[in-house]
Amino acid sequence: MNIELDTHIHTIACNHAYSTITEIAQQAREKGLKLVCITEHGPKMPGGPHEYFFANIRVVPTEIGGVKILKGIESNITSYDGTLDLPPQYEDRMEIVLAGLHDMVLTPGSKKENTKAVIQAMRREIVDIMVHLGNPIYELDYDEIIKAAKDTRTFIEINNSSFLHSRKGSSSNCLLIAQKCMEHDIPISLGSDAHFAVDIAVYTHALEMLKSINFPEELVVNTSVDKLLNYLRGKGKKVLQDPRVKI
Ligand SMILES: [Zn+2]
Ligand SMILES: [Zn+2]
Repeated sequence: MNIELDTHIHTIACNHAYSTITEIAQQAREKGLKLVCITEHGPKMPGGPHEYFFANIRVVPTEIGGVKILKGIESNITSYDGTLDLPPQYEDRMEIVLAGLHDMVLTPGSKKENTKAVIQAMRREIVDIMVHLGNPIYELDYDEIIKAAKDTRTFIEINNSSFLHSRKGSSSNCLLIAQKCMEHDIPISLGSDAHFAVDIAVYTHALEMLKSINFPEELVVNTSVDKLLNYLRGKGKKVLQDPRVKI
């Protein structure tokens, strides 16, 4: 599978990742990627950046060393009503919005509560990708969620780090989610969830799982920058339009 981009990357700004945007761009260039999404944790994550980080992120160039930089957020779902910690006044500055459940922000509830949280978040037009749904500490109704993804045109993430050191026990859920996405024609995005530059676009385990079920390449957004940009532009997002020069 030809991979052109990574939709889920963290920087030193969240205090538990260890590379700068420049280092990430450099690695991306070395790996032959065309685009990276900088999706820092929302402000409610312990140690997460202040909301001004998102307010001011437009100063980052749209391209560094030939690699396009999409500026976004991995917003925390903060209630079972699907509220997010992305300050509303900065919503239109985000070129891509990921949303997800994190137990240090929202305590896992019942299956019904967790499912409602995810679906209500997906119903917010601003949300583009729902991340790491395989996390076993949140029991979820995947059929309901996949149906809502179809209705709201939200992409579903398969998170490679869920197969490794994060969210232990996610693998079988990720497989189930991918099968359901395939069945219902829901596009997925592969997220490395890299917290260090060398880990960007590392999708080994996710790709192995997708291959085992013959997941169609056309449903994987990472195979084409245009696929991602067209999706975002189709939702009215102003992507790569900042006046900052390329460096
Ligand atoms: Zn996360
Ligand atoms: Zn993340």
